[in-house]
Amino acid sequence: MSKFVYLFAEGNATMRNLLGGKGANLAEMTSLGLPVPQGFTVTTEACTKYYDDGKVLAQEVVDQIFAALKVVEEQQGKKFGDNANPLLVSVRSGARASMPGMMDTILNLGLNNVSVEGLATLTNNPRFAYDSYRRFIQMFADVVMEIDKANFEAIMDARKEEKGVKLDTELDADDLKGIVEKFLVRYAELKGEPFPQDPNQQLIEAVKAVFRSWDNPRANVYRRLNGIPYSWGTAVNVQSMVFGNMGPTSGTGVAFSRNPSTGENVLYGEYLFNAQGEDVVAGIRTPQPIAHLEQDNPAVYAQFKELALKLEKHYRDMQDMEFTIENGKLYMLQTRNGKRTAQAALKIAIDLVKEGLITEQEAVLMVEPKSLDALLHKGFDQKALKAAKPITKGLAASPGAACGQAVFSAEVAKEWNAAGKKVVLVRMETSPEDIEGMIASQGILTGRGGMTSHAAVVARGMGTPCVAGAGEIRVNEEEKYFEVNGVRYEEGAWISCDGSTGYVYGEAIATVDAEISGDFAVLMGWADKYRALKVRTNADNPRDAKVANDFGAEGVGLCRTEHMFFEGDRIMAIREMIVADNVEDRKKALAKLLPMQRQDFIGIYKAMEGKSVTVRYLDPPLHEFVPHTEEEMKELADQMGLPFEKIKATVEGLHEFNPMLGHRGCRLSITYPEIAEMQTRAVIEAAIAVNKEGYKVTPEIMIPLVGDIKELKYVHEVVKATADQVIAEAGVELEYKFGTMIEVPRGALTAGEIAQVAEFFSFGTNDLTQMTYGFSRDDAGKFLEEYYARKVFESDPFAHLDQNGVGKLVEMAVKAGHETRSDIHCGICGEHGGDPESIEFCHRAGLDYVSCSPFRVPIARLAAAHANIKFPRK
Ligand code: PEP
Ligand code: MG
Repeated sequence: MSKFVYLFAEGNATMRNLLGGKGANLAEMTSLGLPVPQGFTVTTEACTKYYDDGKVLAQEVVDQIFAALKVVEEQQGKKFGDNANPLLVSVRSGARASMPGMMDTILNLGLNNVSVEGLATLTNNPRFAYDSYRRFIQMFADVVMEIDKANFEAIMDARKEEKGVKLDTELDADDLKGIVEKFLVRYAELKGEPFPQDPNQQLIEAVKAVFRSWDNPRANVYRRLNGIPYSWGTAVNVQSMVFGNMGPTSGTGVAFSRNPSTGENVLYGEYLFNAQGEDVVAGIRTPQPIAHLEQDNPAVYAQFKELALKLEKHYRDMQDMEFTIENGKLYMLQTRNGKRTAQAALKIAIDLVKEGLITEQEAVLMVEPKSLDALLHKGFDQKALKAAKPITKGLAASPGAACGQAVFSAEVAKEWNAAGKKVVLVRMETSPEDIEGMIASQGILTGRGGMTSHAAVVARGMGTPCVAGAGEIRVNEEEKYFEVNGVRYEEGAWISCDGSTGYVYGEAIATVDAEISGDFAVLMGWADKYRALKVRTNADNPRDAKVANDFGAEGVGLCRTEHMFFEGDRIMAIREMIVADNVEDRKKALAKLLPMQRQDFIGIYKAMEGKSVTVRYLDPPLHEFVPHTEEEMKELADQMGLPFEKIKATVEGLHEFNPMLGHRGCRLSITYPEIAEMQTRAVIEAAIAVNKEGYKVTPEIMIPLVGDIKELKYVHEVVKATADQVIAEAGVELEYKFGTMIEVPRGALTAGEIAQVAEFFSFGTNDLTQMTYGFSRDDAGKFLEEYYARKVFESDPFAHLDQNGVGKLVEMAVKAGHETRSDIHCGICGEHGGDPESIEFCHRAGLDYVSCSPFRVPIARLAAAHANIKFPRK
């Protein structure tokens, strides 16, 4: 028979997967000899069994619960449901990872109409007994039976008003007795059945409620946001009650062993006398800072301080503890590694190394890579954020907090920004023409598009917050408003977007600036010391390259050359090239592009101080670049001196049914080799120019969307001929590298052949994911939401690499590439290159580097260190 229930005395801290975090820590504290009210944990396996059995709590689990309860009764010398000396318990959820959004605590379980009297007599404190009972009825009704607690609060408030008092503590035993009677009547009215008097039934119902709460919508959202698998399940902790509400020598509180906001090494927290746990959390009475306890009860304070220190030393991390004082005696109810701000995480990790408690590697592991986002981007003022209510949610596409007035076109964004206004650009989706408006905006909100949509990729590159694909909003760009759930937001309406959570708010929320401390540099220094993967950046202009270089990028892994034409009048030049229907016109357009490209490459080479720069040749999905409106077509026609009708016909001729699978990538360089010639000239000439100034640039030329060695060979000949010619003309020596992206499944499957020509591979996992799954990058967001809701998928494969499928192709290609060319250099430049979980995969797959947007560079450095500390490379 499987064991589904463990006494606290039977477990320890290593059993987190089975007992959940809370259960494992209660067991560990018990074995350390701390004053822990005893109890037991119903395991996470019992939870998964509950779901496997069709939401039924198996009899063997029930039997084991009551067997454990018997032991606890003996330990406490009390009996569950007893009239004279009743054992009361608390019931709490506790998953492997701490998860807000799951079931709240139920206290005082075991009370009924009879045992409440027993408790009153035993403690000689009827007020306490009835106070405990009314709390239990309300919590049980709320948490287990989902009856709104407002029903009960109204009864309490009415009594206080009748009596002319303000505080709960001013109600006496008789008041509370009367309130309990009313609670029971209200419960029966609302539920259609009496409040359960059988403590065994109360307990089983509460356990089932915890298991149910694993699947509530809040928990599901939190899990997805934090990558916690649904399959883990939650444990349930049943613990004998101690009472903080027994009178003035009792109390309850929560404390951290260090300050969780700043990391300062002082006890931090608060407590309330004559209260139970939920009073502290609910904010009904104002708690005292923990330092006050030193005056109120010096002995208990000293003992608590000592235990806090002991726990911190034992866990070698800052602890978040709950405690209760019952008639002057201290009990520890919970401890866990405390949540902290990113700033505090750095300070605590570094201090613990200084104090000799942990190693540098452990300190590195202590800071979550993703948490660095909070240091690098603006955030919302937490108080203001708590008070605000989201109006909708989209994808958390680019982190940070944005607050501004809604505008619906790039032009208005630019104008308003120039006039000193803060704006958020709201579009159904963005396209290259929006780039200047995007730069001028505090944040970007789109109604359509996924994690690799134009808005998401470009915003991340700029470090601008972006919520993409908020499917509930309807954007009317023409009439300048958006609508969500029946509410309209006109141009100028204040909105706020949280690019870290995906929430959108229909109001202004104050933001706070990012702040990087000296601790950041220390920890990043350690991360660099322990990582094996190099970290490059995806940057298309000198500005972004400089930011990335300052963040420690070791090169550019992807320069998307088509992005270089987004700004100013440049889009016209690239459109001219796209709509040219003969070589001559195309060459004319290309001649305009050449100096711009050369100058940008010079800027990027210099911004990177001569480090490697991989230039990816033009890869414009045509639908992103062709003029859309008649006005834009007219403008282009004027510029080219061609009739409007002709341009219109060309644009129509360029229409593709599947642009993402269309005339893009190396296909363009094959049909129009003059494009590859111009780009080669720009790359090489720029390198020669900067090397004359003392830099030592070795440019890397990268051909996208190759599926067949023959494609790469064709382009290679064009590139080589031009490069050799330019180098010869200049009369200098210049080394350059030629490689390819692996982003078409066939390219991965035939990587061994492709490596005959390619000196390096860069995995374009955006396209590789698109083509391996057959999910359109631009449209998948719409149905993937349904996939999550139905638990078909747990996460977005465009954000977290699908290691079983796409990852297999990557591993295969790396291996085959090395078999052909032992020193082939391999990296990744899809959006996954900045995702910590995918970075760990890249490390294990043997890649040489990851490349990500500039603001993700520090995250990638830290994630790479995590990967190498956990899975050291030989
Ligand atoms: C990719 O496909 O992963 C990639 C980096 O290229 P792009 O996103 O420009 O298609
Ligand atoms: Mg691609």
